[in-house]
Amino acid sequence: MRVLIVAKTRRGGGACVGGVTLEGRSVRLVFAGALAGDHAGLEYEVGEVWEIESSPDPHIVPPHVENILVYSGRRLKRVRDAGEIIRRLMPSVMGGPDPLFDGLLQALPSGCLYIAERTGIPSRSTLFWVPDQPLERDTDARRIRYRYPTEDGGRTLTFVGFQEPVEVIPAGTLLRVSLAHWWRPPERPDEELRCHGQLSGWFLEEKPLPGAAPGSGHQPFQQPRAEPAPVPELATARALLKQVFGFAEFLPQQHAVVTRILQRRDTLVILPTGGGKSLCYQLPALLLDGLTVVVSPLIALMQDQVHQLHELAVRAAFLNSSLSHREYLSAARNVRGGEARILYVAPETLLRPETLLLLEESRLACLAVDEAHCISEWGHDFRPEYRQLEQVRQRFPEAVCVALTATATPRVRRDIRRLLGIEAAGEITGSFNRPNLFLGVQARSDGLGQTLTFLEQHRGQAGIVYCSTRKQVDQLAAELAARDWPVLPYHAGLDSESRRRNQERFIHDDDVVMVATIAFGMGINKSNVRFILHYNLPRDLEGYYQEIGRAGRDGLPADCLLLHSRADAVTIRRFIDQGADSERSGRQARLEAMIRYAEAAGCRRIPLLAYFGEAHEGGCGQCDRCRAGDGRTDQVDVTEAARNFLTCVERTGESFGPVRIIDVLRGSRSQRVLSRGHDRLPVHGVGREFSVREWRELAKQFIEQGLVKQDLEFGGLRLSGRARAVLNGERVFVRRGREPAGVRTGSDSQATHDSGLFELLRRKRRELADQGGLPAYIIFSDRTLVEMARRLPRTAEEFLAINGVGEARLANYGEGFLEVIRAHGASRHSGGSATVGGSETQPTRLKTVRRRCEEIGEAFTVGETIDQLAARFGVKRGTILQHLEQHVVSGGRLDAGRVLAASALPVEQRAPVLALFKRHGLDRLAPVFEELGGRVAYDELRLLRIWFRCGEAGSRNSTLAKSRPLIEGM
Ligand code: ADP
Ligand code: ZN
Repeated sequence: MRVLIVAKTRRGGGACVGGVTLEGRSVRLVFAGALAGDHAGLEYEVGEVWEIESSPDPHIVPPHVENILVYSGRRLKRVRDAGEIIRRLMPSVMGGPDPLFDGLLQALPSGCLYIAERTGIPSRSTLFWVPDQPLERDTDARRIRYRYPTEDGGRTLTFVGFQEPVEVIPAGTLLRVSLAHWWRPPERPDEELRCHGQLSGWFLEEKPLPGAAPGSGHQPFQQPRAEPAPVPELATARALLKQVFGFAEFLPQQHAVVTRILQRRDTLVILPTGGGKSLCYQLPALLLDGLTVVVSPLIALMQDQVHQLHELAVRAAFLNSSLSHREYLSAARNVRGGEARILYVAPETLLRPETLLLLEESRLACLAVDEAHCISEWGHDFRPEYRQLEQVRQRFPEAVCVALTATATPRVRRDIRRLLGIEAAGEITGSFNRPNLFLGVQARSDGLGQTLTFLEQHRGQAGIVYCSTRKQVDQLAAELAARDWPVLPYHAGLDSESRRRNQERFIHDDDVVMVATIAFGMGINKSNVRFILHYNLPRDLEGYYQEIGRAGRDGLPADCLLLHSRADAVTIRRFIDQGADSERSGRQARLEAMIRYAEAAGCRRIPLLAYFGEAHEGGCGQCDRCRAGDGRTDQVDVTEAARNFLTCVERTGESFGPVRIIDVLRGSRSQRVLSRGHDRLPVHGVGREFSVREWRELAKQFIEQGLVKQDLEFGGLRLSGRARAVLNGERVFVRRGREPAGVRTGSDSQATHDSGLFELLRRKRRELADQGGLPAYIIFSDRTLVEMARRLPRTAEEFLAINGVGEARLANYGEGFLEVIRAHGASRHSGGSATVGGSETQPTRLKTVRRRCEEIGEAFTVGETIDQLAARFGVKRGTILQHLEQHVVSGGRLDAGRVLAASALPVEQRAPVLALFKRHGLDRLAPVFEELGGRVAYDELRLLRIWFRCGEAGSRNSTLAKSRPLIEGM
């Protein structure tokens, strides 16, 4: 039987679908086997003609005689003029409502129309009506009602259609009217049974749908399109990247994706979490002529993304089931008025006819499908609604489609492409490696103790501890809370309100530790999650990779630790054995791969990436195996040297070649250096630990790796995009054997920034976030704050040069943050440290030099000996002493007793040295050395001078002052 679909009404999660047969009979489609609330019938749309297999419904209750049972259906075509066809096929009632339903309608005092069982049952429950007066929407009613005007206050029908409600339905509009099911108020059981009158849809003025030819279906979207047009917008795209988003360079693959979208070529983007997928559609959205719709299954995330866009002064809106009707209308109005450029929608909302209508009116230019793996049954998170995106594609063939996901096996990728009609060449895949995640595994012996030690290393940071069971979550959370850790639990056993609250706090606060089952994390966009601890062995590497992927989205280092236990593996195997036979072998194999990773002898990244089909050459330098030296790595971390080098290139104006850069780094005072004032740069002399030869080798490698580009005519070096990434946290490695002797291997040093200032900036961000009711990371990412603390911008212009600062953020927050930076600089200046000069660049210098010494000073304070430090940093004992002294000179504290304990000088020889310090002053050791006839080594002298300085500092510091008698006594 052929049926023209004429109405679709809301009914639970499913749809009530009305049709007209081509013989002119009204039918209501009941889907065989579907229960009320199932998503049955959603694919049927008003205006479509379907061929259906059906039989009469055996359970017909008059007046609902139109029901037919549908077994299967096939869409034939879509018609332009459904209203016209209905008028031809069906008789309609003209005039007022009285003759509707055989004249059996009655009105409640409110005007609400119904029929009562007692007074007679009409022959049918659906009909078409063309009113002779306009119907107005009742505004104060809880449900939407339309009122036909009469002298006694009017007659109303409840609106149950899927269409977007209008304020007034003009007279002469074709309406479909139906009767609801039999009903009586539950609190009045004696009352008569009634069927209320409903308005289930209308046919306002008909307008052709794009792409619909009369009598034919839509053109299939797979048809080849015209050759991609040249893209004039690309230059603008690059400008907008900075202006709006604040970024100087595209991340890997972003450029390729943006180009394709602007060329209107459908694309599948596969990038790891943190790979910058959102920008791939957000940027083109600003340039495309029309609306960009982003389909996302994560309702919590939509609001977050929209906030984020508002922060960038990009107009965006979202539609999902969390909106009240009023909010829905206001969002829809924004979209229709062309104010919003980007609209986020949940898939089920997108499929509602009124949403589709809205998109038609707003000229859909780009359909972005986020979490695109949800479309595939083979994906780990299949969502049936996603399947229907196929039809949305058909309905909007001119909109370019971009699908994005972080996880997709080859099979899932093929599925996504097939369903969305994306050509194989349209697949763009980035590396799955996340170099900023440090990967560690420990055998779980004392789980709680290991957890506490790990957390202690991350105090003040946000992170997640994953446990395998709810019980374990509750226990561990309680243990941690008892020790005053800011923990929150999360698992499916908590009520939804607690879950929502805990998740919100985690997102908003910067230091919360979430103890959770794997139920937590999907859709968490928080960019500054700094660690992930797995208390139990995960079932497979997919899950594990997804969970650790939630850390370090901002690209700054993040720490992942897995507590491995064979007992967990036994438990998982038991589950697998109890599970479905068909899945057993696959699950077992995945568990085995997980165990192999946990017990890997070499670099952890090799098996991890291999699992995702990616080869990783050599050791990564960022896992526990590599750091312990058994990663069989041939890579050595030279990040610190690279940062100094790049900073030097930057601060000398990107115009000098390697020779001059090396001169400055090694502290040359040659005329060439002095004449340009390069001796006053903070990086002047910070690279003395390497010889000229070693620096040359490094420079060569930096050029080879594309960190700097050399001008072919003049030889000057310029920073590349990757250089900026390195300055902001990305690490640099060179082949073993090519690293300079003094280089620290497996270092975990932080980016060269002022950590004190970083804290102040974080505080400022917190304050602004609280004022705006936003998560802190939405204002600026940690990475952007780190860059501020490193580059110390003083003017609006310098502030705008920071990666992550665009024009909107400069306008909103620039002054606030600049104030913090200036005040901090001023306090450093007046802080009275001997080495601070008056020049603008001095504070930076102090910080760069101090950074390493601070680290060493702190390590010494917490118990490492000088010899241990020398071994750890791969430098001489004397160098450590220099750092310790620098630490004291710049205001740091050291335990004087421990300093003295490190002295090998017999007690009786110490007093003469101290006497000479008093005579000659502390500036130079040489006169003291000379006067003692060379009997006391320089290192010993320096050690005593440190101790002496501690004593001097002690006059400002009561605990150190206590050690003063010790000194005097000798
Ligand atoms: P994904 O969705 O792939 O997980 P996001 O879109 O959330 O990644 O981006 C991850 C982080 O990278 C965000 O903090 C974002 O601001 C940042 N980012 C995106 N593009 C760039 C870029 N071109 N340069 C620097 N940072 C970027
Ligand atoms: Zn490694």
